[in-house]
Amino acid sequence: MKIPFNIPPHIQKEEAYIAQAIANKKLSGEGAFNKKCVEWFKENLRCPLAVITPSCTSALEMAMVLADIGPGDEVIMPSFTFTSTANVVALYGATPVFVDVDPATMNISVSAIEKAITSKTKVIMPVHYAGVGCEMDKIMDLANPRGILVVEDAAQGIFASYKNKALGAWGHMAAFSFHETKNIVCGEGGALIINDAKLVARAEIVRDKGTNRQQFLNGQVDKYTWQDKGSSYLQSELATAFLYAQLENGQMITQKRLDRWKQYHQAFAGLEKSGQLTRMTIPADCKANAHIYYFLTNTADERSILWGYLKEKGIQATFHYVPLHSAPAGQKFSRTAGPMTVTDDQSARLLRMPLYYSLSEQEAQYVIDTVNEFYRGRS
Ligand SMILES: *Cc1c(COP(=O)(O)O)cnc(C)c1O
Repeated sequence: MKIPFNIPPHIQKEEAYIAQAIANKKLSGEGAFNKKCVEWFKENLRCPLAVITPSCTSALEMAMVLADIGPGDEVIMPSFTFTSTANVVALYGATPVFVDVDPATMNISVSAIEKAITSKTKVIMPVHYAGVGCEMDKIMDLANPRGILVVEDAAQGIFASYKNKALGAWGHMAAFSFHETKNIVCGEGGALIINDAKLVARAEIVRDKGTNRQQFLNGQVDKYTWQDKGSSYLQSELATAFLYAQLENGQMITQKRLDRWKQYHQAFAGLEKSGQLTRMTIPADCKANAHIYYFLTNTADERSILWGYLKEKGIQATFHYVPLHSAPAGQKFSRTAGPMTVTDDQSARLLRMPLYYSLSEQEAQYVIDTVNEFYRGRS
């Protein structure tokens, strides 16, 4: 049996929506499906504005423009994250400040954030790793009295919540990803959620090459002009047509992933009990979305051997992230605050199992059987 790491979800409705978009003769970022996607986020996250962007990376970039960061400013984030989180900060000449993660969730440690705050801290960027929510209430309590903005990297967080409030609805801004490896996809895509009403007017200018074109379209001005810094942050109508089909069916897509996630989790309980691996955990306050299933092997060496064993059996397991503080650009553009003990240790032992919408129960069982076979061979 061959089991890839990921197959992008496809629910068969995408083609009809794309055909409809073409028939509508409006293919830029102002078409009907773009509006439907924006409305979906406004309704589901109760945000005053959402911008469907070409990627999560571009959504994070737009957030940095709105936060007006520059040289001398610091942005606190975990080192255990995807490159984009730190790269958008470095791009504007500000300094990513890395802190350690909580061993139970691999999410940013709140006590580490508190110790890392300085007079230069302008933004905190929590990353909801694996779609498991960070402790957003505590993070907002640290940020708000100090006038620090919170930008959630919710790339992995769609259809997940913390304390019954959606991920992406907590921070002043939040960014989602619809890259083909995420739960809900459109090839390449993202969304910037603006929760802070004070940022809305500028966001409408920044997303449209720094112009007040939105006011022109609303009939508020008779021509539009260059008003502020900005870029081209709107997604094409063809991609948002695909995306809308997935958002509409997002509960169903998430449920199928959750079923496979539970199957893995129950099956690996025995190996955890016998001390052979440590399963990921989801705190009681979090409703997760099965974006990732991972466990920790006991040693880094054991991870490579298991990874190779699975590969031989046709199973593509993966691991990530090379902690950003140890990456070449991380050393050049960033600094750490406090020890990186958990990040260094656990990122070297983490292994992700294949998990995607069309993964069948039988295929997941084959993965489980193969992992069990590996550990039987070692005891
Ligand atoms: C996937 C991902 C991104 C980048 O998303 P793109 O849409 O590919 O730009 C950023 N941060 C995290 C945590 C991610 O998982």
